[in-house]
Amino acid sequence: MKKHNYSAGPCILPQEVFKQSAEAILDFNNSGLSILEISHRSKDFLAVMEEARALVLELLGLEGKGYQALFLSGGASLEFLMVPYNVMKVDGKAAYLDSGTWASSAIKEAKHFGETVVVASSKSENYNHIPKNYTIPADASYFHCTSNNTIFGTQMKSFPKTAAPLICDMSSDIFSKAIDFSQFDLIYAGAQKNMGPAGTTLVVVKEEILGKTGRTIPSILDYQQHISKESMYNTPPVFPVYASLLTLQWLKKLGGIAAIEKINDAKANLLYTEIDRNPLFIGTAAKEDRSTMNATFLLVNEAHQETFDAMWKAAGISGLAGHRSVGGYRASMYNALPLESVQVLVDVMRNLENNI
Ligand SMILES: *Cc1c(COP(=O)(O)O)cnc(C)c1O
Repeated sequence: MKKHNYSAGPCILPQEVFKQSAEAILDFNNSGLSILEISHRSKDFLAVMEEARALVLELLGLEGKGYQALFLSGGASLEFLMVPYNVMKVDGKAAYLDSGTWASSAIKEAKHFGETVVVASSKSENYNHIPKNYTIPADASYFHCTSNNTIFGTQMKSFPKTAAPLICDMSSDIFSKAIDFSQFDLIYAGAQKNMGPAGTTLVVVKEEILGKTGRTIPSILDYQQHISKESMYNTPPVFPVYASLLTLQWLKKLGGIAAIEKINDAKANLLYTEIDRNPLFIGTAAKEDRSTMNATFLLVNEAHQETFDAMWKAAGISGLAGHRSVGGYRASMYNALPLESVQVLVDVMRNLENNI
């Protein structure tokens, strides 16, 4: 039986993407070859890469606005250092918002390249909210933030206006809700949260911010090299890029980001309403900052844990355990998780209340 998959990443993808991917592994485009054995320079794969890059910009509303989309390797974690390498000026400084574990990992890498100013942090409250009311130094090479804090279940609902380029790690909420993506100069996201399987990282960059650091950048880490080679500087992760394309096609067919946002809001509403109504549960994130992608919550009385865990497992739910740094539960409700799966979880929460 197909599980209700609440895993935080890698995570659920649309069922039809699994099916189409499986078919392509056996025979890609009726070529008599598997997607796993074709050359990345073959006509069929060049078309995949071209369509994937174009569809990213189309879905984000960034066509013809000076942006390039790249499918790289190394995960979002490699972008933690590629960003300062490519955008922090030699002897310059960069500004960061410390809103969670991933933000703090990005800060750690930036420090290898120069002065790294942390404009605000919610670390002392175990990152239970998004810091607000901070000042970004006017002379920063860029400002970096994390739109959705996957581990702590908080999400930025607005972004600061900055003179400096605005750079965002959107690994866990890209393509989940309509925002003005043109306010960002660089966006990156590991595919495995909302776009595809693990193995590729999407980078969307406004070309005009590149080439200004005064630094020599090794080719493989240089965004301009990847752009000039149309995201084929070296062998790209062929299969993850293909499965990401299928997921993006699924999203477009559904009506794009505006359509999925409605579904995501309905799922989040359903679950948070139950967390707030049910006296056995309590949410861990500040209400105004709650993430529509990752809902974090605890049992008020830990004595109910064994019963609750047995109940959700019996209901076919998987991947609900919270991250060790928060404890409790984390329900990741990425684009491909159906509303019905959230209803199953809410029913289990109600049953627990009625049976205790
Ligand atoms: C998962 C995650 C990362 C790390 O991604 P990798 O691809 O494993 O390097 C970075 N940032 C955020 C917000 C994440 O959710």
